[in-house]
Amino acid sequence: MAALPTLPTTVAATVAAAAAPSAARKLRRALLWGSLVALLVVAQSLLVWLTVNHERNRAQEQAEAASLVAADDVKQRASRNLQSFQALMWTDAAHVSSQPWQANAAVLLRERRELLQLERRDSQMRVTEAIDSPYAPGLFQRIRRSELSLEAVAACASAARLASPAYSRSYFVPLLSGAGLEVMDVCMPVQNAGQLEGFLVATVGLGGLLTEALGPELLRGHELSFVEGDGTRLARAGLQRGAGVYVAERVIDLNGVSLQLRLDSSAGSPRLIPNLAVAMVLGLSLALGVVVALLARDGRRRARAEAALAESLAFRKAMEDSLVTGLRARDLQGRVTYVNPAFCNMVGFTSAQLMGLITPPYWPPDLIEEYARRQAARFGSDRSIDDAREGFETTFMKQSGERVAVLIFEAPLVNRAGQHTGWMSAVLDVSDQRRVEEISRQQQERLQATARLATVGEMASLLSHELNQPLAAIASYAAGSLNLMQSGPPDADTAALLQQATERIAEQAERAGRVIKSVHDFVRRREQSREAIACNLLIDAVLPLVRLQTRKSGARVVVDVALPSPRVVCDRTMVEQVLLNLTRNAVQAMEEHTPLDARELRIEVRQHHARWVTFGVIDCGPGVSAEAAASLFTPFFTTRIEGMGLGLSLCRTVIEQHGGALEFVPCAGGPGTEFRFTLPAENPSKSAAALPTDATGGPSQPAVAKELA
Ligand code: ADP
Repeated sequence: MAALPTLPTTVAATVAAAAAPSAARKLRRALLWGSLVALLVVAQSLLVWLTVNHERNRAQEQAEAASLVAADDVKQRASRNLQSFQALMWTDAAHVSSQPWQANAAVLLRERRELLQLERRDSQMRVTEAIDSPYAPGLFQRIRRSELSLEAVAACASAARLASPAYSRSYFVPLLSGAGLEVMDVCMPVQNAGQLEGFLVATVGLGGLLTEALGPELLRGHELSFVEGDGTRLARAGLQRGAGVYVAERVIDLNGVSLQLRLDSSAGSPRLIPNLAVAMVLGLSLALGVVVALLARDGRRRARAEAALAESLAFRKAMEDSLVTGLRARDLQGRVTYVNPAFCNMVGFTSAQLMGLITPPYWPPDLIEEYARRQAARFGSDRSIDDAREGFETTFMKQSGERVAVLIFEAPLVNRAGQHTGWMSAVLDVSDQRRVEEISRQQQERLQATARLATVGEMASLLSHELNQPLAAIASYAAGSLNLMQSGPPDADTAALLQQATERIAEQAERAGRVIKSVHDFVRRREQSREAIACNLLIDAVLPLVRLQTRKSGARVVVDVALPSPRVVCDRTMVEQVLLNLTRNAVQAMEEHTPLDARELRIEVRQHHARWVTFGVIDCGPGVSAEAAASLFTPFFTTRIEGMGLGLSLCRTVIEQHGGALEFVPCAGGPGTEFRFTLPAENPSKSAAALPTDATGGPSQPAVAKELA
């Protein structure tokens, strides 16, 4: 609500709609979550599959690479064998060695374990010499060599034809032990001066060839074998058995024959957990799952919070809409930032018409300047936030031009960070109230005027009595003067008497005039304005009328005003009426039961408090009974036959309108009643500088008591 407390209705509606549970929304949410989970599962499976596949490919590639190396090694070994055979043949033919062929051949057989037998044959393929490997003696003991020479003959035929070494197909040689060996023959033509002299035939064990050609490392992790096209294993080296998962085959071309080398790795199918990459993927998947779960929980919480927010927004909006008090917010520059419907009804403008305006259209045109000045002062930087909370009354103008009296309470808008961002006003339409007050005031005025007339009516008899005396005196002075004038021409004494009589007549006429004027003044004075007046003047003004009241009963009037006379601010006419009512009641109370010499009416004025002046009207009557006391100030309560019962209630109204109070207290130490009221003092700081501000402890003031007959 910092700068703009406007309730964003669209947002509220959206949030409320979002919070309202509906089957379609639930289904949509379930679908969303379902597809998210499915996507996650697919993504995870794909990741695992890719990782495993990668792992498999890697192992396969390793197997392929190892088979390549193995084939290469075998080929190299075979070609080195051929070189050794040639060296053997050459040594023999050139007679460079003193040792016979057999010795050299034995050395070769010892060096190369895969060679099982070496033979020399003549050009007719007859074996002339043969020597066995020391590691596998008696290769052809179970079946004689002549019976297993078919492959050797074919190889030699091919070798003779090509004049280069040639390998035979492999064949199986059963041994005496019952086992057997897969072997092949390699035949090398022996030529002398272009003439074929014979052949050197070496029988190579396939198993031995593998074992000797391949390094121990390769053999440790793989099963290596020569196989036939249909997969029949001919010879094997390395592991007893490969895992059968990563298998690579290579064809090794030797002179005249092709061997199929098969490599079977010991590595099995990639397993999930031991595999680091897969473990990582699984870990990540788990983490992802946890994150999704947390997200789901967060989403649920968010949905709950949104629902609560929507509810509170809806509640706030409903509250603001149903308020009868107008609400208006303004920013620090005085721009209207928010108004509620009640405010719009009050001034007859829509919210859109008022938003953002510094000089709103509900300010009456003739008061715009004054309001702008007032607003500038109110929004001034030196105005403290605490000072600003008081209410004030002002006038707005409706769109129709009708004026509305409003009471405004303004409070600062403070945002969550504690910054003052604007002003919030509660606006009450008090025009009806003001109308009622005006009517009541007029009625009150009329009532008071009536009461005054009633008082005058009551006084009429007293007045006639009062006027009777000066009129009678005037009549007798006039008659005396006439007699003197009729008795002849006046001498000096008669002239002096006539002058005296005329002066008396004038005096009495003036006295009668004064009496009539005081009554006239009392009835006619209508002005309502408050004025500052000295209390003695107030009392002096009503004294002639008071004296009129007391004359009949013969009561004494004692006026006791503090000196210097305190000054009060009041509506003089009204206060005079109060004094007159109270003195009249006092006189009437003393009329029946109070002995003549005890009838004393006392009017006191004191200032015990800096702000208030206290008046007392004290009589020596019978006092107020307990039951009368309960309803003394109720209108139309009276104990007198001719009474109206309005006097005291009017008095209280008048005094309270001045901010004072009217009460009665029994007189201390005797019968009688004191009616006591307070009026605001004029300029309390100056006139009562020396007085305490507490009404209980008053200073001793010099006072004079003036007794009037
Ligand atoms: P009214 O004088 O027309 O009766 P008031 O309102 O002036 O109407 O007085 C109401 C009643 O209060 C009187 O009838 C009287 O009984 C009582 N009252 C007023 N002043 C005094 C007083 N000084 N002593 C005793 N009773 C009083």
